Amino acid sequence: MTDSPISPVPAVHAPAAAQDPDVLGPAEVAARFADAFGQAPDGVWSAPGRVNLIGEHTDYNEGFVLPFAIDRSAAVAVRLRDDSTARLLSSYGGQAVAKVDLDGLSHDSMAGWTAYPLGVVWVLRQMGVAIGGFDLFLHSTVPTGAGLSSSAAIECAVASAFNDLCDAGLAANELVLVGQRAENEVVGAPTGILDQSASLLSTAGHAVFLDCRTQESRLVPLDLAAAGLLVLVVDTKVSHAHATGGYAARRASCELGAEVLGVPALRDVAAADLAEAAGLLDPETFRRVRHIVTEDQRVLDTVAALAGAGPAAIGALLTASHASMRDDFEISCPELDLAVDTALANGALGARMTGGGFGGSAIALIPAAGEAVVRNAVVQAFAAAGFTAPDIFAVSPAQGARRVL
Ligand code: ADP
Ligand code: MG
Repeated sequence: MTDSPISPVPAVHAPAAAQDPDVLGPAEVAARFADAFGQAPDGVWSAPGRVNLIGEHTDYNEGFVLPFAIDRSAAVAVRLRDDSTARLLSSYGGQAVAKVDLDGLSHDSMAGWTAYPLGVVWVLRQMGVAIGGFDLFLHSTVPTGAGLSSSAAIECAVASAFNDLCDAGLAANELVLVGQRAENEVVGAPTGILDQSASLLSTAGHAVFLDCRTQESRLVPLDLAAAGLLVLVVDTKVSHAHATGGYAARRASCELGAEVLGVPALRDVAAADLAEAAGLLDPETFRRVRHIVTEDQRVLDTVAALAGAGPAAIGALLTASHASMRDDFEISCPELDLAVDTALANGALGARMTGGGFGGSAIALIPAAGEAVVRNAVVQAFAAAGFTAPDIFAVSPAQGARRVL
């Protein structure tokens, strides 16, 4: 299990060496492919990871989320073959070439990292897309398990590649569902469409406002650079053992809350209904419900603020989101709280944990000129608290999946 902001943080992090791979241009990715497989690829496709700006645990409550694609991406070079053999290689962590006969592929026969690309191929073949053998080389700069959706980046790059190479003619919103099916049915992670939507539908300088009930999406301007701002990601490198159980328990609380309140999903509870809900729910379920209801409203308020005053106006909403996750949804942890509090004390306009919780990453919206100050303060605060040194890096809203060579 893994990922999306709604899912638990994976229990194992990639080795430190795999966290910061080289940034390779499309021609370099093609050259690495040629080194491995002896011929040039048919093309190279790239799809980004994502950060969820706001809207946490709202997706399975049929509410709103607001992710953006980041300037870290998975690139895949692919060459079609004449047989039914697939050979796959990733630059990550000293992998060997994996060799698979596609005709023997079943949804439960894929394991390890190849389940992501092969899962996409399996789904496309299920849909009738004629995919034969291929060679594939993957190079990703999205750190794994940091809540930035390295998995969706792979799925979306691979889906885009075969959509083009096999003339499948699928639209971006259909590729979103291909990636989601691969993740759900092959990898076995019960994730929604947030990650793939961000990776496939984003454009530079925008976030993707997604209604998880209707699956409709809309681009919202998020031009951080023009506002002199940036988003700093603090990967705490923490993953708590109870993440999976905590996620399931939160989902169960939300389902209970909706049932008692007599609505199909918590999306249907308005902030004005909360006072009445308090009398109907046990105190813990009420706090869980209050997080979802207020978080949905914060997403809507963030979208409105971005369309109006711009990104400098959303800081308080981000910080309020964190407080709600810490106090009402109870999915934060000391490392995330320290990252948020330290960023806020050192000039951040707003900060919050992002992702499923119990570890993973926090984001801070900061003036670009203040990056070094925030960075140093967080590093020092973590050292003083005896916490593992975090990974800290800036991200900007980037272009979604596309062919790059
Ligand atoms: P997240 O999507 O939040 O980063 P996941 O657990 O969903 O975390 O996905 C991480 C998994 O994706 C890794 O365990 C690995 O199987 C696969 N993965 C990510 N990046 C790469 C890569 N560069 N090469 C091979 N596999 C990768
Ligand atoms: Mg994932």
